[in-house]
Amino acid sequence: MQDPDSARAWQTRVPKKVKFFAWLLHRERLNTRGYIYQRNICTLVESFCEHCKDTPETPEHIFKDCPIARNVWESIGVSVQPGLYKQPWLLGHELPLPLSVALDVMLVILWQLWKARNALIFDHKHSNTRDVLQRVTDDLKSWSCRYKSLEPPLLCWREHLLSLL
Ligand SMILES: [Zn+2]
Repeated sequence: MQDPDSARAWQTRVPKKVKFFAWLLHRERLNTRGYIYQRNICTLVESFCEHCKDTPETPEHIFKDCPIARNVWESIGVSVQPGLYKQPWLLGHELPLPLSVALDVMLVILWQLWKARNALIFDHKHSNTRDVLQRVTDDLKSWSCRYKSLEPPLLCWREHLLSLL
């Protein structure tokens, strides 16, 4: 297993905002309701997932167990073990797709799950699996120019995700 703090494990060309988000997630400093509850800033009931209502909103819940996350990973064919979202460079290796950009794609998926969570809480907008995957493929398209020689592998992943829509 790669050292989580090594630069190699984090080698990715996603925009800085996505990298920063991934770093917060990895460090368990993402401002989830569960995190806010831990710091005694809200009540237990206020710490529940906006979608599930009776489950504390932890990173594990948002990125693995909440139905939208579960459906997204299932539809792509990626298995997420407990805590694995904190090591995104280990995700997606079971798919017959280029490993060179697997981390990038996994970060974009986690990023869009987080954005879907924010849209539900702050704008009362519901997203389904298809919405999330569509936004992931849109991001991969608009960020593909950052990849230069890695653009073909990135597009390979994008084609795969588009085929699931
Ligand atoms: Zn939930």
